[in-house]
Amino acid sequence: MTARSQNGQGPLSGKTALITGASRGIGAAIARDLSERGAYVLVNYRTSEAQALAVVDGVRAAGGSGEAWQCDVSQLQSAQDLFRQLSEGGHSVDILVNNAGIARDRSFRKMGDEQWGDVLQTNLNGAMYCTRFAVENMAPRGYGRVVNIASVVGQIGAFGQTNYAAAKGALISFTKALALEVARYGITVNAICPGYIGTAMWDAIPAKVQAEIIADIPMQRVGDPGEVASCVRYLVTEGTYITGQTINVNGGLYRGG
Ligand code: NDP
Repeated sequence: MTARSQNGQGPLSGKTALITGASRGIGAAIARDLSERGAYVLVNYRTSEAQALAVVDGVRAAGGSGEAWQCDVSQLQSAQDLFRQLSEGGHSVDILVNNAGIARDRSFRKMGDEQWGDVLQTNLNGAMYCTRFAVENMAPRGYGRVVNIASVVGQIGAFGQTNYAAAKGALISFTKALALEVARYGITVNAICPGYIGTAMWDAIPAKVQAEIIADIPMQRVGDPGEVASCVRYLVTEGTYITGQTINVNGGLYRGG
């Protein structure tokens, strides 16, 4: 149990969860959900401090507990500083949700190194950096849950998203390989592949393209951030024998493994 974190009631009482990119959207929903199950939540943001603090206020108003932490996960030094400060503050991360992600869409022939690099650095290397430090926390204690928020785009691709698809596809492969290495320490590692979820990232897609996407979704709607959060909750509470898996939360858009 984390020395400093105070926890609520529920299956995650006594656990501390770090959710990256939790100032809004899917990450905020995950923070709220895990908090409702008793976890002490560390709400990470890069620039959106006010939104992250509002998420923490909401968590506390609902009877949970947690705090906001700034960190740019795409920067190794920033991630290292975060985990050092957490440790100095008495927090041990039991649950890591690598949710922070960005999109910088451009067709491949027009895509610059910056758009390619920013997306790989945040969506893939950022997850790797946080996982590296978190696993060092978890392994000696014989318990850990790592959930990587990938994407259906990492499974089937999307026009204008070679960078994003490459990062998310690699995140899925990273999940499978890491699961093999850390299972012996009681750490499970899984990926969730959301389909299209109604957040700021979805809002940035042009309306015409949105309509085409929805027409392809068997459930004929985008998902709600809470529907991804439910899946994270299941993996970290009930999923004691689930590791190295990719779980699809996509309204039927893609039905493969
Ligand atoms: P949003 O754009 O709504 O939120 C992204 C979050 O990530 C924000 O809190 C943002 O914080 C944070 N963030 C971005 N870069 C960094 C960074 N370098 N360090 C720390 N935090 C960062 O996205 P969603 O909620 O829609 O997406 C969440 C995850 O789900 C992403 O990984 C995304 O790829 C994935 N996903 C989303 C889908 C969708 O349709 N919405 C579908 C499939 C996957 P700040 O504002 O402070 O930068």
